[in-house]
Parts: sequence; structure tokens; C-alpha cells
Amino acid sequence: MHPAVARHFLVASDFDQTLSFNDSGLVLSEILGTTGFQEKVDGLARSNLVQQGGELAYLIRHDPEFRGVRREHLVETGRRVRLRHNIPALVEFLNRGLEGCRFSFFVISAAPREVIQSALEGIVDPAHVFGTELEFDDRTGEVRSIKRVPAGYGKVAVLEELEARLGTAPDRTIYIGDGSSDVHVMLHVNNRAGFTIAVSENHQLSRIARRTVLSDDAFSVIVPILEDVLGRGVSEIRTVFESNGLTLEQWDKARTDRVTIRDTRASDGDGAAAFLSVDLVVESDADTADAVPDDDVAVA
Ligand SMILES: [Mg+2]
Repeated sequence: MHPAVARHFLVASDFDQTLSFNDSGLVLSEILGTTGFQEKVDGLARSNLVQQGGELAYLIRHDPEFRGVRREHLVETGRRVRLRHNIPALVEFLNRGLEGCRFSFFVISAAPREVIQSALEGIVDPAHVFGTELEFDDRTGEVRSIKRVPAGYGKVAVLEELEARLGTAPDRTIYIGDGSSDVHVMLHVNNRAGFTIAVSENHQLSRIARRTVLSDDAFSVIVPILEDVLGRGVSEIRTVFESNGLTLEQWDKARTDRVTIRDTRASDGDGAAAFLSVDLVVESDADTADAVPDDDVAVA
């Protein structure tokens, strides 16, 4: 099906809030009836005890409230997670490939593997899901140990394994993510001339990612892949959407600068410095802008 000279791309995506809307740890904590999940995660993040994104794995192993987790809770969590739209269309498109290009799609996330496999059942081959690997006790069903957590630098390790297994060059790696647990892997992919896409307005990440796409629709990441990686024009991109049964309804290419200005000149009266805060929004053609472009994409 693919010509022998096809360029082979490894497309790797985060799961929580990249392919889904809500955090699977939050859904799991609701199922378990635990309290203060976000505070616990924030506390762990502040302490830098675990890799960013690996907080849930730590809680499952060490927090008394999460001790009761069984495999069935993880599967149920996956069923309840709200997915972004059109993930099946995205996966089918990548599996089909384009003339001269083929793609291998993998999910790399710190969420428990069972959660992601359950959420993406029938959409993504379970063997293409890399999540936190937990070992369960055969007798009690309790989590006995943690084998691996693909969070922070752990994502880099999985990505390098996949590149070696597929035999793809590092500059043919495309990574999609939304949050701070994706910083390491995005810097790594960029450093080796790969391509990175942020799907949230996370300030730290959108400075690192080559492109930022904001959309409820998972298929929207096809826009920067076609445009920047494969050099396709706007009309070709629209055609690709249409041939996948989708319409690119709205595509605002804009550059957004958020500026806060502090007035350090002496103020009158009590001598306190006057503060002037300005939100400056600049919209311009992304092609002429040197900042990272923001795409707002709506798919119908
Ligand atoms: Mg995420």
C-alpha cells in the first residue's frame, strides 16, 4: 500500500487533556471517593519528589486513600473520561497515511495504562499505548508495585525506544501534548529537529512547541502536520479534511501577545509605585509573525 520510498513519521501523543478533556486522575479519585486530589497533586508537584505528571502513580502506591485501587477501577475510569472529538478520524487518517508518507501513532502518558486502553478501546491498538505500568497482586488485586512511569523524562525514554524499534529518524518524530509533563519530551524532540504541537494555552509549553492548536477536536493537529511538516497548502489541507468527512469550519491564524506593564516611575501621594496592567492582543498573519503561532481550529 505504501510506496517503498515513503517517509515514515512517528506521531506520539499525550493522553490527559490532549486526547481527553478532563484529567483521568480526577475521574479515578471521584470513583474512589477520595478527597483533595488536586491539593495532593499540587503538593507533590511543589516538592519535585516525582516527575511532572507522575503524581497519580505516586499516590496510587503511597496514599492510603488510593490504596484501594483495583484494575476494574482503572477500566471504569477510562470509560468515564471525556474524549476530544474525532479521535477515530485522526487515528484512521494516520493509519492510512498520505501519498509518500506513512505514520505510526502511539500514546505516551503517565496515566495508568489500563485507563488509556479502556478509554481508547476500539480506536487505538492497545499495543500502541504506553502508560504507567502497575503490577497487581494476584490474590488481593491490590497494586503491588510500579514498573514504569512515562512522565517527564520517562516520556523521552519511551520515545527513543519507539524510534529504535520503528527505525525512524529523530527528525521524523512528531509529539503532541498539553502540559508541564510534556516539557522534557518536547525540548528533546525539538533539539533533534522533530516537530512539536501544543494543544493548550499552557504558557510554558506554548513557548516550546513549534505550533499551538486550540480546538475541541483531536483531528485539528492534522493542520500543523500538513502545513509545517509536509508543506501542504491551505486548499490541500481543506481537501484532506473533506476526504475524511470533516469540514474545516473556522481557522483563525493569530498571534497573541499578552503584555503586563509595570510603571516604575514615582507616583504622587503616598509614594507607592503605580501599576499599569495592559492586556495587549496582537493579531497578525502567523506566517509573518516570529512568535509561536496560535491556531484556533473548529471542525464540523
Ligand atoms: Mg496531559
